[in-house]
Amino acid sequence: MILISFGTRPEYIKIKPLIEAFDGNIPYRLLFTGQHVDLLSEVNNDVLRLEIEEGENRLDSIVSSVMNNESIFDNIDSVLVQGDTTSVFAVALAAFHRKIKIIHLEAGLRTWDKNHPYPEEFNRSAVSRMADIHLCPTEKSAENLKGEKVNGTIHVVGNTVLDNLVHITPERTNTIVLTMHRRENHDLIPKWFAIFDKLAKENPEFNFVIPLHPNPNVQKHKDILKHVNVTDPIEYEQFINILSQSYMIITDSGGLQEESSFFRKKCIVCRTTTERPEGIGTFSFMTGIDELESLFYEVKKNPIPVGKCPYGDGKSADRIVNILKQELQL
Ligand code: UDP
Repeated sequence: MILISFGTRPEYIKIKPLIEAFDGNIPYRLLFTGQHVDLLSEVNNDVLRLEIEEGENRLDSIVSSVMNNESIFDNIDSVLVQGDTTSVFAVALAAFHRKIKIIHLEAGLRTWDKNHPYPEEFNRSAVSRMADIHLCPTEKSAENLKGEKVNGTIHVVGNTVLDNLVHITPERTNTIVLTMHRRENHDLIPKWFAIFDKLAKENPEFNFVIPLHPNPNVQKHKDILKHVNVTDPIEYEQFINILSQSYMIITDSGGLQEESSFFRKKCIVCRTTTERPEGIGTFSFMTGIDELESLFYEVKKNPIPVGKCPYGDGKSADRIVNILKQELQL
């Protein structure tokens, strides 16, 4: 039995296609680690649930709440974790302590800067040291792991997030989608938001939309956005439809770079480091605060990317089922 663990909405979005492909094929149990509590309403399946006991340091609390939960591993031969959150690290560590096989989905992404993104770069690197089966989205991520001489097998499977998008036909409307939430950007949000607002004011022919992340460090700057359409976070199915109809995207998100590339939209990335170099210069464009305005006008003039989506073809889940059946002799 495989224990599939998730703790946040982006993790759930990326394991959802796998859960569907596992159904009737590979026995699994779901574990929700409780990192993003608002997520549970979206999850219908039978799920084991942990709760994060709050302490002084949130990251410590996540790790300590996951450890010492013997019963979650009852009858479990392998654990599947996705990505790089602190609960991914904690579940992998707990599995490692019990010599349970670890399958890492979206393995091999790297910035090689432990502070960007923080704490995710550490989490994913640490999981790579413990994992037995590394499911990499791209050749580049697989090369990273080979370079690190990790143990276990390495497979290039594409990014499962794209499996969610294959049924949608993209269009191009006047909507510009904005998102911002990364911890490294929290102190800079007033500056980013001021430019977002200026661009929205100067370009009234576009509908600038920002689903505002629930984090209070983001919410407290909401009033800066006078010319932007500020909404609550949008339910995933609706959000990907909006994305598929957008003109361009401005974000500090990781997953959005993959989704926007699949829909053939250009994406301005409000970050100075990236673990997704594959699309840089064609689909994604990194920016500091000072360059955002000029980059916006360049992308506005020329919004259609050239080339193939570098993050996969939307058929990852079936590939993974075949790999796991072989590797785990199921
Ligand atoms: N997303 C969503 N609703 C929103 C904003 C984002 O469903 O209002 C989805 C988006 O499509 C993507 C994921 O959430 O799949 C990205 O999450 P986030 O930017 O928080 O995390 P990251 O990808 O940086 O880990």
